[in-house]
Amino acid sequence: MRGGMNNTNIEEMHNAHGAKPGTRCGDCCNFVVRRQRGKKYSKCRAYGYSSGKASDWRAGNEGCGMHNRPFDPATMRPLMGQTRLDGQMEF
Ligand code: SF4
Repeated sequence: MRGGMNNTNIEEMHNAHGAKPGTRCGDCCNFVVRRQRGKKYSKCRAYGYSSGKASDWRAGNEGCGMHNRPFDPATMRPLMGQTRLDGQMEF
């Protein structure tokens, strides 16, 4: 199964951080590509990881307000798993 299930994770990021027109997730410092058993999995550090497709990321997404702002796990929490209100971070 491709696509479909993970259409909304970038929308969650746009809702939480705003969209940043003219940027792409693939150009962001928080975009990571992992290779496992010959497959590539793209993820967003600021959104968070799971082992499943819910956290798979698309390089072609329009970037969010966190674009090229390094995600610091010591001071920030990934959005995934937070309530919608908790996701409203101020910068
Ligand atoms: S932090 Fe970067 S990779 Fe993650 S959604 Fe925002 S722009 Fe995309």
